[in-house]
Amino acid sequence: MTYEPAPGRYENDALYRRCGRSGVRLPVIALGLWHNFGGHDSFDNARATLLRAFDLGVTHFDLANNYGPPEGSAEETLGRVLRQDLARHRDELIISTKAGYLMWPGPYGEWGSRKSLLASLDQSLRRMGLEYVDIFYSHRFDPDTPLEETMGALAQAVRSGRALYAGLSNYGPEQTIEAVRLLREMGAPCLVHQPRYSMLDRKPEQGLLKVLQELGIGAAVFSPLAKGLLTNRYFGGIPADSRAGHDPRFLKPADVTDAVLARTRRLDEIARGRGQTLAQLALAWVLRNPVVTSALIGASRPSQVEDCVAAAARLEISAEELGRIEAVLGGEP
Ligand code: NDP
Repeated sequence: MTYEPAPGRYENDALYRRCGRSGVRLPVIALGLWHNFGGHDSFDNARATLLRAFDLGVTHFDLANNYGPPEGSAEETLGRVLRQDLARHRDELIISTKAGYLMWPGPYGEWGSRKSLLASLDQSLRRMGLEYVDIFYSHRFDPDTPLEETMGALAQAVRSGRALYAGLSNYGPEQTIEAVRLLREMGAPCLVHQPRYSMLDRKPEQGLLKVLQELGIGAAVFSPLAKGLLTNRYFGGIPADSRAGHDPRFLKPADVTDAVLARTRRLDEIARGRGQTLAQLALAWVLRNPVVTSALIGASRPSQVEDCVAAAARLEISAEELGRIEAVLGGEP
C-alpha cells in the first residue's frame, strides 16, 4: 500500500526542542531501533511502527551499526522503509548512527580508531541506502586510542559530507569536555550526547548533565523507560512478547524484581493521578531538565509510540509531584 504521511504531523509544536545551542530542533520523543527492528523481527510491524512515529511528528530515528540482530539489520530495515515509503521525506528526517561497539571480526571492528569509525560509517550508509546521516556518534570512549584520532574521524565524517553533525555516547563528564573541545577546534562541533538516563538510572545527574548544559550541548537520553520496567508492561507478570520475555540479552526476567515492581507500582499511582500512563510520567520526568532535548524510546508496536508521544501534551511536573516521585525513588522499596 502506498504510504501517505499524515498532513497534520507538524501541528504539535510542543513536540520539538532546540538541541543545545544549535540550530536544530529535535522531537522530545525520538525512536530508536536497537530492539524490534532487526532481521529476525517482523518487517511489517517495524515499518508500521516507524510510519506511525513519522505520522505523529517524530522526525528522529536513532540507529547504530550493530543494531539487529543480526548486526546491521536494523539499518537495513530502515533503509527499506526509507526507499519504500519515505524517500520523498529525507529532508524531514534526522537519522543517526554510531560506531564503537563490536561490529565485525578483527582489530578494526570496534572501538574508536579512524580506520574503524570511517569504515563503519561507509557500511552504515550502504545498508541504509543514504548519502549521509544527520548525526554520526562515537558510541563509546576508547581508552586505548588517542581522543584526537577518534574526534578527528568524526570531524572527517562531517567535512566529507557523510554526516551533518558529530555526537558522543557513553562518554563521562571529563571525557566529554575534552572531546567537545577537540571537535570545536576541528570545525565539527558536537551537537548531542547520548547517555543512559531514567528514574531508575540517574548517573548523568552526577556531573554529565551540568557539563552538557555549560557546553551548550543537548542530551538525547536512552532507555528512559528502563527498557520497559518504567511502564505497565510487567505488572501482571512477564508477557511472552515483552523484552524480558523473549529477548533477554539486556533485560532478563531476573531484572523484573519485586523491589522494582513495588517502586514502579507507586510511580504508576502518581502517573494515574496526573491522568497519564507510567511511561508518560517517566518520559516527562527525564524531560523536566531542559538540557534533555529528547527521550530516546524503543517500541515493539505502534501503540507504544502513540502512548509515548502523547507524553508531550503534559510535560510539566509540579514541585509536589516531584517530591512524591523523589520519595519513591530515594526511599525504601
Ligand atoms: P526504553 O527504555 O524506551 O524501552 C523500550 C521498551 O519499553 C519497548 O521495547 C517496550 O518494551 C517498552 N515500551 C515502550 N513504550 C511503552 C509504552 N508506552 N507502554 C508500555 N511499554 C512500552 O528504551 P530502549 O532501551 O529500547 O532504548 C531506546 C533507544 O535508545 C534504542 O533503540 C537506541 O536507539 C538507544 N540506545 C542507545 C544506547 C547507546 O549506547 N547509545 C544503548 C541503548 C539504547 P517491549 O519490547 O517489552 O514491548
